[in-house]
Amino acid sequence: MTRPARKPPVRVPCEGVVLHYGEIGTKGANRVQFERCLEERLREALGHASMLGKVIRLGGRFLAVPREGVRAAQALDVLCCVPGVASGAPAQVVPDPLDAIAGAAVALLGTQPPGSFKVETRRAHKAYAVPSMDVSRRVGAACATASGRAVDVHAPAVVVRIEVLDGCAVVSAGSRAGPGGLPVGSSGHLLSLLSGGIDSPVAAWQVLRRGARVTAVHLWNRTADAMAVREKVQDLARMLARSAGEVPLVLVPFEACQRAIVAGVPGPLRMLVYRRAMLRIAAALAAREGAEGLVTGDCLGQVASQTASNLRAVQAVLAQEGQALPVYMPLSGTDKADIVAQARALGTYDISIRPHEDACAALGSQRPAKRALPEHLRRAEGALPWEQLLAQALDGATRSVERPAWGGDARPGRA
Ligand code: ATP
Ligand code: MG
Repeated sequence: MTRPARKPPVRVPCEGVVLHYGEIGTKGANRVQFERCLEERLREALGHASMLGKVIRLGGRFLAVPREGVRAAQALDVLCCVPGVASGAPAQVVPDPLDAIAGAAVALLGTQPPGSFKVETRRAHKAYAVPSMDVSRRVGAACATASGRAVDVHAPAVVVRIEVLDGCAVVSAGSRAGPGGLPVGSSGHLLSLLSGGIDSPVAAWQVLRRGARVTAVHLWNRTADAMAVREKVQDLARMLARSAGEVPLVLVPFEACQRAIVAGVPGPLRMLVYRRAMLRIAAALAAREGAEGLVTGDCLGQVASQTASNLRAVQAVLAQEGQALPVYMPLSGTDKADIVAQARALGTYDISIRPHEDACAALGSQRPAKRALPEHLRRAEGALPWEQLLAQALDGATRSVERPAWGGDARPGRA
């Protein structure tokens, strides 16, 4: 005896965006936790964009229904920035008889750019009476008749996707890739050192995509054009917030440290001592913020301060100060051209290239050392009043929470 179809978790028919995840599907017993986390992030993303209707779990996928007046395509722009989402598409959820499925397929195909199409069917509900191939054939025939489009199973311009579930079917077309990875909040909390440059926002985004929640810190040289720098870093944090939901941003005044370094450290070692100062401050902030590691945009060999010896000599300050914090450098093996491509896709590139006076400019460092040892730096900086400099920097720190600014045509692509 066949059991009656289960009541679908949504009232059908309805419209929205269907979202699929990738890596979460491999999570075995922990999968439910990851799904819950992603569901929360999807709600949050729509909420920040003032588009929230509801988000419903439909088996191994989600249906996001935006609030009234918001088109699925607009919601798709927002949802396809959320880590954990492998792909998303405008969709209709309909009862499972073939004529209902075909009606939805014809309607969705009508919203897509011209050209050939194919229909792909998957039956998550294996007891469905019609085999997948037959569903595709019959719905494909209805679409061809209604639209006059040619079928091309090898290189179609549009794919209409049908997923037959228990008691309903999800029909979608115009699928777009999301960032993939894991939902933010599923793998801890990191403090990301955000300069105004190209690399560090991409580094932050890479750990966001691996599920880390990120607090950003900028060591702020207020002797340069302070307000322009602040605005730039805020804009970067807001762009990252499209993926993260929100990004706390801590601005730490850094000019006193810089002055002390310029006055007390020989030119070739200044840049490295300066980096150690940044790590000292970041480690203290990480403790304050409850972050479990630091993230930088360092890239092996990109500049003199990033040779293997110099990175070692710089990071040794953490152990020296008893701060057993890992430093994540997700770009350490990435070529600049690839980083730039990611920054463009992410939407941070145009912000990063706005001119601003780099905090390093004040260092006046000639010919930086290429192979420093930790003890060189320890000696060179030994006379500086670190406790006092650190306290002064932390006391002057300000914290804001940056949220995504949706609006205008600022839609990012995908990295
Ligand atoms: P980016 O690496 O972001 O493009 P950049 O190349 O000018 O900027 P580097 O001089 O390469 O930066 O610095 C290496 C890393 O150190 C940065 O990626 C960033 O993580 C960190 N960093 C540098 N300057 C600052 C700063 N003022 N505040 C916070 N972090 C910084
Ligand atoms: Mg760099």
